[in-house]
Amino acid sequence: MRVVQVPYAKGPFEIVERDIPEPGAGQIRIKVQACGVCHSDSLTKEGSIPGIAYPRVPGHEVVGVVDAVGAEVPGWKSGERAGIGWNGGYCGFCDNCRRGDFFACQTGTYITGITSDGGYAEYLVARAEAVARVPEGLSAVEAAPLMCAGVTTYNCLRNTGARSGDIVAVLGLGGLGHLGVQYAAKMGFKTVAIARGQDKGALASTLGAWKYIDSRTQDPAAELQKLGGAKVILATVTAGDAMAAVLGGLGVNGTLMVVGAAPSMQFVPFQLIGGKTSIKGWYSGMAIDSQDTLSFSVQTGVRSMNEVYPLERVNEGYERMMSGEARFRVVLSLG
Ligand SMILES: [Zn+2]
Ligand SMILES: [Zn+2]
Repeated sequence: MRVVQVPYAKGPFEIVERDIPEPGAGQIRIKVQACGVCHSDSLTKEGSIPGIAYPRVPGHEVVGVVDAVGAEVPGWKSGERAGIGWNGGYCGFCDNCRRGDFFACQTGTYITGITSDGGYAEYLVARAEAVARVPEGLSAVEAAPLMCAGVTTYNCLRNTGARSGDIVAVLGLGGLGHLGVQYAAKMGFKTVAIARGQDKGALASTLGAWKYIDSRTQDPAAELQKLGGAKVILATVTAGDAMAAVLGGLGVNGTLMVVGAAPSMQFVPFQLIGGKTSIKGWYSGMAIDSQDTLSFSVQTGVRSMNEVYPLERVNEGYERMMSGEARFRVVLSLG
């Protein structure tokens, strides 16, 4: 099989031939049809997480077809559509797992494309508990970005406590944000998109936004307060100053939900006190959350807008993603 591997931290992508791996007990082999290129793939490319064993195949927005099933995997058979995201599995026996916090498994941290080879490849082997079912109604290229960007925004939004009719703002209109706006609108929130530049207003409205705030020319916090204050602001950007600039737009008991990994953020703690507001992080989700994301996307018509590259053009696709210019997700197609 052909795979794209990173030979060492900060090394170039190499397209190499490898033997097709056999699934062990508890594992499933997926014949990959599409794999999204996510900014977190740079962790593998650059070696920003200590302990990555190289060579390593990146990619955690994987969709394909089950091709072989290892021992002790009930419920899966060859030919079924399957996908895997960032979470690569969990032990099921540690205290966090026994409390249902599988994402925080204390024993092994399994991360697709980081602790095991990911989806920039014709085949990958996955732990069965990390595999999501992929419904008909989404092509592999459509489904792939939903395995990380999609589940991150969808699963965060549905766990905020916001109710239909509440004001929910989405900060950023990039790969995550363009999905976040669609999901928020389809969930019945009064959805406010916040981005830089008046030209994004039309896009926001196409995606289902109720209002658009141009943070270049308007004060987003003041504008949100004019609307009554946001119950939730979903922060998809990676700039701490942009997050700080919207914090004052939260309504009473509102929450800034952070999914963008900004390196730092400064805020005045007093801002949280008066309105009992919070800042909270959110982990993307588990396989069943991805499955729900895909199902909701089929039901409501939410789609990622993608730029598609064949596996051989991985360098181009990756550079495009890293440039921040992609509209909006980059996907490698192996079809
Ligand atoms: Zn990702
Ligand atoms: Zn565990």
